Amino acid sequence: PTPYLDSAIRALRDGGLIALTATDLAPLCGVYPKVALRKYGGLSLRTEYCHEIAVRLLAGSLAMMAAKHEIGVRIVFSHSTDHYVRLYALINYGAKRADESLGDIGFILHCFKCFHREFHKSVMLAQNMACPECGSTMKFAGPLWLGGIVDREFCSLMEENLRSLKHINDSRVARIISLVKEEANAPATYYVIDKICDKIGVPIPPIKSVINHIREMGFTATRTHFHDRGIKTNAPASAVVRAVKDSVGH
Ligand SMILES: [Zn+2]
Repeated sequence: PTPYLDSAIRALRDGGLIALTATDLAPLCGVYPKVALRKYGGLSLRTEYCHEIAVRLLAGSLAMMAAKHEIGVRIVFSHSTDHYVRLYALINYGAKRADESLGDIGFILHCFKCFHREFHKSVMLAQNMACPECGSTMKFAGPLWLGGIVDREFCSLMEENLRSLKHINDSRVARIISLVKEEANAPATYYVIDKICDKIGVPIPPIKSVINHIREMGFTATRTHFHDRGIKTNAPASAVVRAVKDSVGH
């Protein structure tokens, strides 16, 4: 979508809605990070949550492009389905709004050794890339959008709308909206159970059990539409690994 982004933004009026679809997932998901940097202004990273990074790179690209025209953005809905990612954003005129949007631009740091991740809301990346958990060097994605990528209320409005649109009787649409709505207030990135099991050499437990174990430790945990066995949580990586081990009785 990037060649048309600038003119699309300029065609929007104050309070307007823009929908963006990206199908070039190889660059956005970390297979070709340099292409992502060229086209979207941020480096991608091949992690288990690369589809969310794809959405956030697309959102970041929109926010940075809009800011040039003194326009602020608010992402109200986004999803990754089949071989594309799509997002919907409301825009507002004003330099102050644009500055606020840019405040949500930053970097995701990821440790490939212990699953630890960090979010830095800054246009510059700190020099120290050592993982505070295990000491190995972290890799990064960005600059990208670290703000919200789903608005719960907007999801409810979509659900209401869907009920009145009798010609759309695709249950998949309803399922995507409901899943995305569930994770609206969850933190950025997610853990994929398979990835953890592979690393620590245990069989894959049911996702429900891992979620329950994380919640028992006092953290939030929810499923994500991005991945069948993905979990969004505010628990540190070590606690998620612990929950996986507990779920398989290790
Ligand atoms: Zn680490």
